[in-house]
Amino acid sequence: MNYTSTRDNSVKVTAAQAIAAGISPDGGLYVPESIPEYSYDELCNAAKMDYRDRAVDVLGKYLTDFTKEELQECVNGAYTGKFGSTDVAPVVDIAENRFVLELWHGPTCAFKDMALQLLPHLLTRSVKKTCEGKEIVILVATSGDTGKAALEGFKDVPGTKIIVFYPVEGVSSIQKMQMVTQEGENVGVCAIKGNFDDAQTGVKKIFTNPEIASVLAEHNMAFSSANSINWGRLAPQIVYYISAYADLMNKGVIKNKGDKINVVVPTGNFGNILAAYYAKKMGLPINKLICASNANNVLTDFIRTGVYDRNRNFYTTMSPTMDILKSSNLERLIYDLSGCDSARVKGWMESLAATGRYEVDDDVKAKINELFWAGCCDDAATQATVKNVFVSQNYLSDTHTAVALNVYEQYAEKFGSEIPTVIASTASPYKFAPAVLGAVAPEKVTEDEFEMLENLNRVSGVETPAPLATLKGKAVRFDRVCTSDTMRETVLDMLGID
Ligand SMILES: *Cc1c(COP(=O)(O)O)cnc(C)c1O
Repeated sequence: MNYTSTRDNSVKVTAAQAIAAGISPDGGLYVPESIPEYSYDELCNAAKMDYRDRAVDVLGKYLTDFTKEELQECVNGAYTGKFGSTDVAPVVDIAENRFVLELWHGPTCAFKDMALQLLPHLLTRSVKKTCEGKEIVILVATSGDTGKAALEGFKDVPGTKIIVFYPVEGVSSIQKMQMVTQEGENVGVCAIKGNFDDAQTGVKKIFTNPEIASVLAEHNMAFSSANSINWGRLAPQIVYYISAYADLMNKGVIKNKGDKINVVVPTGNFGNILAAYYAKKMGLPINKLICASNANNVLTDFIRTGVYDRNRNFYTTMSPTMDILKSSNLERLIYDLSGCDSARVKGWMESLAATGRYEVDDDVKAKINELFWAGCCDDAATQATVKNVFVSQNYLSDTHTAVALNVYEQYAEKFGSEIPTVIASTASPYKFAPAVLGAVAPEKVTEDEFEMLENLNRVSGVETPAPLATLKGKAVRFDRVCTSDTMRETVLDMLGID
């Protein structure tokens, strides 16, 4: 299977090349030339496997230049002994036809671990296949969770260095503590003045700057990306939707061939829900892909109208990893829905860069309408949902998951809830303890986030994940702050290049 660029169909690279490079030199994203099929028989087989074998099975369809043994090594390295649940991504039945897919049992307690535990293994093997000998420099812009998950995934991986930029505005103090205390010899962390979009734009600029690339090349280094634009991030996410369906077959919820599910995803950069779209396109029987946003509802409007317009207020919310106005992975969706028309996609992306807005054509709008439904909710509704679901279903959800739960109820009110629905749960409630505690026991909210972890444990009885419980006593290693103008110097300095 080869990969091409969303902005230039003449590009043709292998999976290893796509993963090693991260982003196409034309600024487009790498996409598979065709979406492989996953048959009903394969689903029935997957139902008998554990998560790791399911992952090898699904990834093998996309990463055809990796041997099965290589994929097994990668998958074992990622998912063996690193996850708090032996199921890796368990499906929890919380109410009638409502199933929560818990994606946060990894080392950083958020769903980014699902991909970022695997990516370093895929990446180092990809580099061996494509540009032997070069040291890979991973640059990450994070809205909070990606940074820590990438740091954990890459720490002390030979042949790699990782530098993470997080926005001063918008990460929680626990997220910040997780990053600035990161251990490992090959890691660097820096705060950037501004919001996530500023950080992401800055990182993209450094990536695509040929002058910086040649400075790195002189030092036998090359950039790569661990952001969700890297195909090596996206492919592992397809696995868990197929895995969830297989689990529902095993639970007897799915009885007949072709029985459908809905999938609800709390969405920011559009990576997670895009993976569900690919799973559907492979043949997984998904009825609707339900896109849930917080007050930054640029995607809700896009899915409803076909107009993407980021000229709007930016809100800092209690689901901060979804505080995004530029959803990079959407480019892959509109590429696919436009019939792989890279010229049209390039035009839309140019319009987005120039005016902050683009409008897709009617053929694309019609397909979006058929496949997706979108909704959003604000912080008050998010907290009310955390509380409701805790009180009525005895299930403690984090704020991002609550956005999805809320939007699903909006959907169910309109279209009914007969179809079993998988709601992606993207973070442990403990990762966003202040807002969750504020919902279920506001009188227990204090100034100290670590005290709130303890209070949440007392109120809910849900076990505190070990990686968060042990965070408190750790030493701060990184206190650097830069601006988008000084990112270049910061990167070179952290790499020891002057
Ligand atoms: C990153 C993240 C999201 C958004 O996922 P995308 O793939 O960017 O759409 C949602 N919830 C949590 C907790 C996250 O960390």
